[in-house]
Amino acid sequence: MKIIKTIKEMQTYSREMHASGNRVALVPTMGDLHEGHLSLVDAAHRHADIVVVSIFINPTQFAPEEDFDTYPKNLERDCNLCKLRKVDAIFAPEANEMYPEPITAWVIENSLTEVLCGKSRPTHFTGVTTVVTKLFNAVLPEAAIFGEKDFQQVAVIKKMTKDLNFHIEIITVPIVREADGLAMSSRNKYLTEKEHKEALSINISLKAAEEAILSGERNSAVIIKQITLRISQNDGKVDYVEIMNPETLQPITAIEPDTVIAVAAVFGKTRLIDNLVISSASSGLFV
Ligand code: AMP
Repeated sequence: MKIIKTIKEMQTYSREMHASGNRVALVPTMGDLHEGHLSLVDAAHRHADIVVVSIFINPTQFAPEEDFDTYPKNLERDCNLCKLRKVDAIFAPEANEMYPEPITAWVIENSLTEVLCGKSRPTHFTGVTTVVTKLFNAVLPEAAIFGEKDFQQVAVIKKMTKDLNFHIEIITVPIVREADGLAMSSRNKYLTEKEHKEALSINISLKAAEEAILSGERNSAVIIKQITLRISQNDGKVDYVEIMNPETLQPITAIEPDTVIAVAAVFGKTRLIDNLVISSASSGLFV
């Protein structure tokens, strides 16, 4: 497994892989890898010959008061995990390789980023779209893999890819959860044991919502109220609970197939996100 630190070396490697007829897939991450990230690696292997994992804690997607300085770093462990999952190359640039000087050209999506996480993190998605563009230009992949845990991010990246004509297939992978149901996240390690237990209310309330829908409930407002109540009763500070169309991210009032329920809530100092897709095919809810 190659460990690549510079954009130039990364591009050279990818061009060599392309020249010998290989399809390259990129898995963009901020490191501190867990099974959620590694499921993206497994998907990448199914869609390409060469799998590149980028590990880069991108400063431009953090607001000044957020956890950039304390974000968990574990490059050696990450490399070992990637090796075990047969990753071909890790692209792990330093910040000054990606941002040798302050940038003044940004990639901005200004519709889907106005809602949900974009409301409480107004600069976040511009950091994400910009760094993903820079990673696309460094790694030159035919496919890129993203997790459905970051539901809004997937919608924004798909729109950016389409609007800006990136010739890259965007592949998504379902949420991977801890045994107790909490969606895996590098930020889960910030939680105390008590907060972790309380945070289970997110997944529990989403599952209860699915049950309610299965029993015939179609009113989004009722479902939103139930989820909000359960999380609040468990000391979670709800940022949002929204029921919406997965592509447009526009709220819907009556639940229909192919709808997503998205939640963001803060436990202690840790902001967590999760979601549940209501799909006719997967659940048989709307037969
Ligand atoms: P991060 O390192 O948190 O920026 O995440 C990198 C990628 O891994 C993103 O596409 C995330 O959506 C994805 N990811 C993170 N956690 C999970 C999870 N629990 N299940 C599936 N994908 C995940």
